[in-house]
Amino acid sequence: AKEQGRNNYQFYTAAMNSHASELLMLENELHQALERGEFVVYYQPQINTNTGKIAQMEALLRWQHPEFGLVSPAKFIPLAEENGLIIPIGEWVLRTACTQIKAWQDAGLPPLSVAVNLSARQFQQPNLVEIVARVLQETGLENHFLELEITESVAMQNVDFSRAILQELHNMGVSISMDDFGTGYSSLSYLKKFPLDKLKIDQSFVRELATDPNDGAIIAAIAALGKVLNLTMVAEGVETEEQRDFLRSLECEYMQGYLFSKPLSPQDATELLQNYRSS
Ligand code: C2E
Ligand code: CA
Ligand code: CA
Ligand code: CA
Repeated sequence: AKEQGRNNYQFYTAAMNSHASELLMLENELHQALERGEFVVYYQPQINTNTGKIAQMEALLRWQHPEFGLVSPAKFIPLAEENGLIIPIGEWVLRTACTQIKAWQDAGLPPLSVAVNLSARQFQQPNLVEIVARVLQETGLENHFLELEITESVAMQNVDFSRAILQELHNMGVSISMDDFGTGYSSLSYLKKFPLDKLKIDQSFVRELATDPNDGAIIAAIAALGKVLNLTMVAEGVETEEQRDFLRSLECEYMQGYLFSKPLSPQDATELLQNYRSS
């Protein structure tokens, strides 16, 4: 038993070490990823299910590492958040996404807006508003084509500061969307104080719709809340027709998920938009 205990322990530390060294290695590589041009922004359509048309694209970052392959943002965003690299990386995503959307508009494709994710660290930088304003000016994208997605935990970290920043962005014509709604902590009174345009219902509620009746009730409650606050409702992670139909019955008209499209490379997204125009 002792022997086994020791083996377990060894196994445990080995796994821990390999995890720790994997993280270290990733972090080292992350420092150079931007200048090596290893990042790509993918685009996932958001559908207006009343018209069936694409209303918007969400910009989702991908790291294409020459050896490790495609590294998931779930893995490297927290690292970048911790070491501060998210600041230059986030600005690059913003600039790249605005440039792409403007290029599609200039090519005569149907005008879309773009949603860009903001992490906690980015949101706390004192010059965020100036950075956003500068990127919009330099790329020539009209302000109302940009939406910024924040999460409840980001907004709730410093409520007065958050509200002031969001208000400034909103006054510029930038839309504000609350991402992963329902997973964090936010009181309804705060929700009312933030200048929000959208609530994105977290995909964890959508995923279990068929199996967990509570999730249906939660989504119905969120949709009712969104209606009272006059917010656009978006459901994420919609994979099946059943989920789509249920969400439509709640008048949640905007949806994003594999049922409609996975996040697409810039090339694939361009093709989709071109075919879509000619169809
Ligand atoms: P998120 O903002 O909640 O993005 C939605 C995630 O759900 C994306 O994962 C997307 O690919 C995935 N997804 C979309 N539809 C479906 C579906 O039908 N089924 C399932 N199972 N998944 C679906 P992704 O691209 O791996 O991104 C993960 C997270 O990483 C994002 O969650 C976001 O929090 C973060 N992230 C991605 N790009 C950026 C970025 O540029 N900046 C920041 N700060 N965070 C980012
Ligand atoms: Ca998001
Ligand atoms: Ca989300
Ligand atoms: Ca999420």
